Amino acid sequence: MGEKIKEINAGDFEKEVLKAEFAVLDFYSTECPPCEALAAKYDALSLLYGDDIKFFKIFRQGNKELAQKLEVSGSPTLLFYKNGKITGEKLTGGIKRSDIIKNLENLIPFDKAKAIRDRTKPFETKCSVAILGGGPAGLTAGLYLGQAHIDTIIIDPALPGGYMATTHQVSNYPGFIEPQPGYMLAHYMGEQAKSAGVNLRVAVDVTSVDLDKKEIVVDGIETIRADKIIVATGSSPRPLGVTGEKEYRGNGISYCATCDAKYFEGKDVVVIGGGNSAIEESLFIAKFAKSITIVHQFAELQANKEAQKKAFAEKKITFMFEHEPRVFKRHGNMDMEVEVEELKTGLRKNLRTNGIFIFAGFLPNISMFPDKFKLDKWGYIETDSDMRTSVKDVYASGDIRTKAYRQITTAVADGTIAAIAISKELG
Ligand SMILES: Cc1cc2nc3c(=O)[nH]c(=O)nc-3n(C[C@H](O)[C@H](O)[C@H](O)COP(=O)(O)OP(=O)(O)OC[C@H]3O[C@@H](n4cnc5c(N)ncnc54)[C@H](O)[C@@H]3O)c2cc1C
Repeated sequence: MGEKIKEINAGDFEKEVLKAEFAVLDFYSTECPPCEALAAKYDALSLLYGDDIKFFKIFRQGNKELAQKLEVSGSPTLLFYKNGKITGEKLTGGIKRSDIIKNLENLIPFDKAKAIRDRTKPFETKCSVAILGGGPAGLTAGLYLGQAHIDTIIIDPALPGGYMATTHQVSNYPGFIEPQPGYMLAHYMGEQAKSAGVNLRVAVDVTSVDLDKKEIVVDGIETIRADKIIVATGSSPRPLGVTGEKEYRGNGISYCATCDAKYFEGKDVVVIGGGNSAIEESLFIAKFAKSITIVHQFAELQANKEAQKKAFAEKKITFMFEHEPRVFKRHGNMDMEVEVEELKTGLRKNLRTNGIFIFAGFLPNISMFPDKFKLDKWGYIETDSDMRTSVKDVYASGDIRTKAYRQITTAVADGTIAAIAISKELG
């Protein structure tokens, strides 16, 4: 933790945070990848703004009452204070550096904010290969390129590991007899890539990407120029588009059981979905929650038979088949409500719950490259067998590309192929 950041407890809140002229408070948790991603940015920003603004951290699990009082129900959450009054936005989940800066600048006088901004001078870095995405595909490509002594930078707005890092148990990655916690596999892969000489820019904002010029701007200040780019940006949970979903995302609605299930010890939870992720993650949530109601649009589950068998045997889980959510609402600090519709009859009813998890499939992370690639009908990038895309010197690997099976093993295979093909081209 940076020297300009002070760790406090609920008892210090009033005298430290509320008595400060300007303050920012980070509610963090353990085993929380977005919290770790934020920690790196928070450290760096405390060095820039720490003379003018007081930076605090507070452990959410150890200070639950204060968190509830301040309506903090997700980790990490950043709160900004001016003369004891909360101000600006409440930032939560995958927090961008630019959003933190906007709120910090909002606290202090304009000339001070400008002086600090002027201190951060833009700079350029050159490399042979830039990899967008540090999931299994990107890290494996980096490992092979690093071992081939090819100057490589991996860029990721989160921490290394991608989805693997948030999967509680991975039992099908070869080489391990026992199931491995996903975050450990992520740690091993990240460290292995680093020890091969790869440079990592993680927990950053990817400000812009120019695939033609092979230029990537990071955090608004560093321009990375590469000879070749590998796009390994994976996919993200598909939003349902239900009223209230956006509003309560990270604040009553979660997409990550590994990150948030622990906050539902002894509580009631609603899960939306019926595929592999929904059922496997419900089984994990069942370790904590008192009850889980799975709301699924079809008459049967789509998960694999093994997971289905376990879910049907789990007494805490009940099913509402052929139902869809229509509205998500909040009641007070901790309670949520889901209005569900029975698809056959059109009848609606309300489920009162403590939290909602949504597992409704994925969409490719392609929005940074509009109209650039040849895509399949689902929006995934088409490649040749060496992972080359329709854009010259740009490759794609992992879940972002057209393929039948999206797994860690298939992602690392794609990364391997792209890296070897590039190594041969660069000679
Ligand atoms: C709940 C769940 C459980 C799973 N369980 C298993 C399992 O047990 N076994 C298994 O083999 N597979 C499992 N999978 C599938 C597996 O996790 C994926 O197939 C694999 O992670 C894909 O790797 P990837 O590197 O292509 O993408 P990801 O893992 O999605 O990584 C993509 C990375 O790109 C980053 N990124 C996004 N946008 C940008 C951008 N604009 N610029 C730079 N970086 C960006 C992201 O932050 C992320 O780190 C599971 C998936 C889920 C969702």
